Amino acid sequence: MVDKAEKVEESKFAVAEAEEEPKEEVKAEEPETDEPQAGENEWKCPTCGKINQNYVGTCGCGQSKNDI
Ligand SMILES: [Zn+2]
Repeated sequence: MVDKAEKVEESKFAVAEAEEEPKEEVKAEEPETDEPQAGENEWKCPTCGKINQNYVGTCGCGQSKNDI
C-alpha cells in the first residue's frame, strides 16, 4: 500500500513539471561572467584580474608576467 501511494505522488510531480513552460534562454550566446578577457596581445593578471598588454612585463599590482 505504501508503494502505491508513492507512485501516485511521483505521477503528480511528473504532470506538474510537464505543464511548466520552458524558459527562453536569451543569454546563451553571452558569457556568464562580465570579466574582461585577455586578447591575443594581452595577458590577464591572475592576482588582480587586470588585463595587461604583452609589452607590460609587470602588472600594476606587482605580479610578473613571467611568473604565470
Ligand atoms: Zn595584477
